[in-house]
Amino acid sequence: MVSADNLDGQIAYYTMEIGIENDVKTYSGGLGVLAGDTIRSFADMGLPAVCVSQVNENGYCKQILEEDGTQVSEEDPWPVEEYCEELDVEVTVPIYGRDVTVTAWQYDVVSEKSGETVPIIYLDTNVESNDPDAQEYTKRLYSPGYGEDHQLAQEIILGIGGTRILDELGYEVDVYHMNEGHAALLTLELLKRNDMDPEAVREQCVFTTHTPVEAGHDQFDWDLVNEVLGEFVPRETLKEYSREQDLHMTYLALNLSRYANSVAKKHQEVSRNMFPGYDIDAITNGVHVPFWVGEDFIDVYDEYTEGWQENPYKLKHASVIPDDDIWEAHQSQKEDLIEYVNEHEGADMDPDVLTIGFARRATAYKRADLLFYNHERLRHIAETVGEFQIIFAGKAFPGDEGGAGNIREIFHNAWELNDAVNVEYIEDYDMDVGGLLTQGVDVWLNNPRRPLEACGTSGMKAAYNGIPQFGTLDGWWVEGHIENETGWKIGPEPEESKPDETPAEEEDRTDAMDLYDQLENTIVPMYYNDREKWIDIMRNTMAFNGPYYHTRRMSREYLEDAYTQ
Ligand SMILES: *Cc1c(COP(=O)(O)O)cnc(C)c1O
Repeated sequence: MVSADNLDGQIAYYTMEIGIENDVKTYSGGLGVLAGDTIRSFADMGLPAVCVSQVNENGYCKQILEEDGTQVSEEDPWPVEEYCEELDVEVTVPIYGRDVTVTAWQYDVVSEKSGETVPIIYLDTNVESNDPDAQEYTKRLYSPGYGEDHQLAQEIILGIGGTRILDELGYEVDVYHMNEGHAALLTLELLKRNDMDPEAVREQCVFTTHTPVEAGHDQFDWDLVNEVLGEFVPRETLKEYSREQDLHMTYLALNLSRYANSVAKKHQEVSRNMFPGYDIDAITNGVHVPFWVGEDFIDVYDEYTEGWQENPYKLKHASVIPDDDIWEAHQSQKEDLIEYVNEHEGADMDPDVLTIGFARRATAYKRADLLFYNHERLRHIAETVGEFQIIFAGKAFPGDEGGAGNIREIFHNAWELNDAVNVEYIEDYDMDVGGLLTQGVDVWLNNPRRPLEACGTSGMKAAYNGIPQFGTLDGWWVEGHIENETGWKIGPEPEESKPDETPAEEEDRTDAMDLYDQLENTIVPMYYNDREKWIDIMRNTMAFNGPYYHTRRMSREYLEDAYTQ
């Protein structure tokens, strides 16, 4: 059996963002939260690993919502020195023809289970020897408000700076894992160290692609590359490993890795279509189970599925948990959520009313407003079939007018519907709010436009708290969905869905109508009239999906298929 002994050194896991705990503001969303869950599992398993990221002392974005839903995006600073140890290390990287100094901080991720540690090395350019521009580079995640050159500078620091820092710190790296293309410039540093031999670089590199959305794949003009990075390696060499027209981080990573993967089975198909000719594997994401299970379900699992924290496969035994235990634990977690919403948003939500949750980055393809497609239908269901209330959360990327508009739309819809459906929007979505929501709602709604959701992990967090998902068959839901057993689908089966041939308006209409049908005919009546069946479904989400959608299983797959091959 493959184990960490098959490694000749450390796994160096590079990620632009990581969500390790709520108040360490080095994450924006799914990519970072996944990185955090991954590193937590690496520590649990005692894998020899080190994580490289950026310190971003001004965080990502603090969201303030005005009366009409307009998002004000502020800096979100965190006290680095309270959480991290300053390392006595210094390297330089070339940016705009000068040597920029990079230093580092260390945050130790210590497993409560195994006592093992995986360090996160946070890169920092905010030092006196740098000029004021260079001091800005690592201050804020994804540098909202700055230009593309700033983004490229961040990627130079992560890829090239990170690799030099690891070297300086004495790490013997066996595998460089690029979690998304942001870190792909590390391949150039490795090329230089290996006499420009691509085979030697490929031997050491693995790459994970995380999104089918075109804009999620960084591309930089050659002119910009020339200005910011200079002739770090000859342009012709870069073109060979990227592509003719620009520096494309995904191509660079794919061409210089021995292994590449997508993050769900469906995403594999989509990625292979986007990047024909590349052998892209599929390792479905997971979540770190003990981190995302609410207190009441922790007690229930402790009683009925002993050993689940160390080994979430044990959750298959959730099939024996009695109805009352499930319902009591759920209601208790739901009350915590409702109390939070009522307190923080001045709402008057009711824990006995069917509660639907929807939280994710505010961006068009996630279709947060699909539920409001037809007010009459929605009103009709609420007034004649049964009451329901809806809780939203999510930030727009600062400066993304489209995303900000989505939030205002929800506010507007909520206002128009307020006599029939209670709709609330929780300000400043972060890991704490994500936890509360995925532990406390009754139904987790996820209706992205196909096939743009690579995986989605919030529905997995919900499943570990016995909460069924209601969603379009995209990302992980293609794998985790069993109709009327682990949740419900919206719209067609994957093989019947033809997103390339279907105009977006038509897809929206079909999906919205199915969403209403499901609510009207199945979900709302079952919640109020067939509690036994409802609890059966809750139990199945835990017993069927619990054994699989966790980062321990996922990390084993990375170890066996990516790191030690
Ligand atoms: C889990 C989580 C996400 C990822 O959720 P998706 O389902 O991928 O949208 C994003 N943000 C936060 C704060 C989370 O906790």
